[in-house]
Amino acid sequence: MKFFLVAEELGKLQPDQHKLHFFTKIMKRTQSQALYQKALTYFPGGVNSPVRAFRSVGGTPLFIEKGDGCYIWDADDNKYIDFCGSWGPLILGHNAKSIRESVIRAVENGTSFGAPTRHENELAELILQHNPFLEKIRFVSSGTEAVMSALRLARAVSGKSVIIKFEGCYHGHVDSLLVKAGSGLSTFGISSSAGIPEAVASETIVLPLNDRRAVEIAISDYKDDIAAIIIEPIPANNGLLLQTKEYLDFLRKITKENNILLIFDEVISGFRIGFTGAAGYYGIQPDILTYGKIIGGGMPVGAYGASAEIMSRISPDGDVYQGGTLSGNPVAMSAGIAQVRALLQGEFYERLEKKTLAFTDALNSFAKSKNYRFKVFSIGSIFWFAFTDLEHVRDANQIESESMSFFKILHRELLEKSVYLGPSGYEVGFISAAHSEKDLEQAVTAICSSLDTVFAELPEGIAKI
Ligand SMILES: *Cc1c(COP(=O)(O)O)cnc(C)c1O
Repeated sequence: MKFFLVAEELGKLQPDQHKLHFFTKIMKRTQSQALYQKALTYFPGGVNSPVRAFRSVGGTPLFIEKGDGCYIWDADDNKYIDFCGSWGPLILGHNAKSIRESVIRAVENGTSFGAPTRHENELAELILQHNPFLEKIRFVSSGTEAVMSALRLARAVSGKSVIIKFEGCYHGHVDSLLVKAGSGLSTFGISSSAGIPEAVASETIVLPLNDRRAVEIAISDYKDDIAAIIIEPIPANNGLLLQTKEYLDFLRKITKENNILLIFDEVISGFRIGFTGAAGYYGIQPDILTYGKIIGGGMPVGAYGASAEIMSRISPDGDVYQGGTLSGNPVAMSAGIAQVRALLQGEFYERLEKKTLAFTDALNSFAKSKNYRFKVFSIGSIFWFAFTDLEHVRDANQIESESMSFFKILHRELLEKSVYLGPSGYEVGFISAAHSEKDLEQAVTAICSSLDTVFAELPEGIAKI
């Protein structure tokens, strides 16, 4: 495969021999800097979501002017190959024609009615007909809202209140889940954000991932109080902490035996790892599923779903209240419909995964040839750059915080070489259908050359042989 050649050739070169002219222009960032200075006067930290502020990598956040395919352009007209993809939603790339046209058609008929529209039916039908893991669904406007609603439903169904979550899984900014582990196994959590009452944090138990014993102890101590276990079945918000199928099967079994609901938070993995997400990938039926990101095609959509029986608890059928002024918004639904429909085309996911594997294999073989302490972990079209020696990273404590200094240099170098990654080493990257082999080859070249710079600056990351 062509990718391997690129990486092997690069492996033989000296660091500055592969500075193609494509890389050498010094990028101007004056417009982004000016916009950021203004933004600092309007918004806390100059942003409307914290990670965007570039605090983990330093420097000025880029203000993005437009996107097309796998490319974005910043306010200074610098062009980048984008691997952030709006943090996951853009599986077709930026400005996909089918989504744009679908949105425009919807907007021409008005933007919101607060009454049902045919668009909601259409998106639900596409999902429910092709995803056997849920029978009924409810649309909301964000992943956070989906998770918050799923917890309420799980508590109503089980008649219990405590939630088990895992360290290294993110579920949005829901009060009861912005919680970190207390001291000792199976103790109640302490809030990881100011403004969350102790009483709320203490309804959550935080356990390490990939640790059956911790789950068994918590359940034996508190099973009469535990309503649900919530997990990202493919944890992708704190590195990519891939779990084994055996572990997820174990969670399914122990929850069933103890009248505890299992919630799969598939806001990232849903429609990303195949159409049926992680549930389909591992063949595990959770009790409640949450979605977001991809189903909105870049518009604000979230959803949760379950069996018809469990969903019958939601109002107005049942006694669990949940509603939203803009829920099922016709414009957002239209974006989702166009995107989800594209995902059902034959071989969509196979093609995406094949491209991703070629990309990650090329980077891994390059790093290995140079003895760099660097690995790319991936599943489907999600990848994570990890500065580690470990074969597998399955739990958040296995990530050394010092490894982030390597990422910081990598990020800086890649921006100069026209590659945009999310601005934190704990974040994963995404390959979209719009990344061509040529784009990925160009990115591999830029990444390999940047790794040379990283390890020239921090040679302690090169394995002694
Ligand atoms: C992004 C994300 C959320 C939160 O979704 P928002 O739309 O940002 O509120 C929840 N859970 C997971 C797994 C996510 O990746």
